[in-house]
Amino acid sequence: MAVVITLDGPAGAGKSTVSRALARRLSCLYLDTGAMYRALTVKALDRGISMDDPRAIGELAARTEIRLVPDPDAMRVTVDGEDVTERIRNPEVSRNVSYVARVPEVRAEMVRVQRKLGEGGSVVAEGRDMGTVVFPHADLKVYLEASPHERARRRASDLALAGHAVDLEALEAEIRQRDHLDATRDVAPMAAAADAIRLVTDDLSADQVVDRILDLLQGGALAGRTAG
Ligand code: C5P
Repeated sequence: MAVVITLDGPAGAGKSTVSRALARRLSCLYLDTGAMYRALTVKALDRGISMDDPRAIGELAARTEIRLVPDPDAMRVTVDGEDVTERIRNPEVSRNVSYVARVPEVRAEMVRVQRKLGEGGSVVAEGRDMGTVVFPHADLKVYLEASPHERARRRASDLALAGHAVDLEALEAEIRQRDHLDATRDVAPMAAAADAIRLVTDDLSADQVVDRILDLLQGGALAGRTAG
């Protein structure tokens, strides 16, 4: 029986860690949709395309092949066959990705690819519009939240681990700016689906969030499906 779980929410709410662990526990596909927008951003920056030129960005999306390659530990992402898995985490990409992600033609292309990937079987899909747009009939929708300060703190420790210098205040300002752009764009803004379960993760470990979601799945989504 194929199960679709969506995890949406702002940057640093814990989506990636939780989604990855959840997919591992359920032995199913992990779909990191942010990686796809980031990968296109890498190509746009390489080409020197202006973030204020939505037409050029939309055209670029139509001429680009982005692939998510499942990997037991992480997941690799390629742009026209080139592996950009490490580059997509670059701070410059984080600063620009929301400008790429707000272009309607970009989103249409990404949604098409994401739905196709989700057709194959069970999936844990992580992003901003998974529950609202891409998988509206998901078995379980979760919206993760945390305070901006806590989210900046988590991002800072991720970046420090990856060897980047970080200024916590600047990072928090950047996260707020990205959330603002993601939540206010015209097409598929970041939002909790009406039927999503909201979890505030400030005081929860990733393992606790995973357990909470597995409980929800057992108690609600799967039981409902079995009964139906
Ligand atoms: O999740 P992550 O931080 O990697 O996402 C990077 C950016 O990609 C987000 O800030 C957002 O602009 C965009 N995104 C999106 N829709 C998704 C996933 C990510 O617009 N489903």
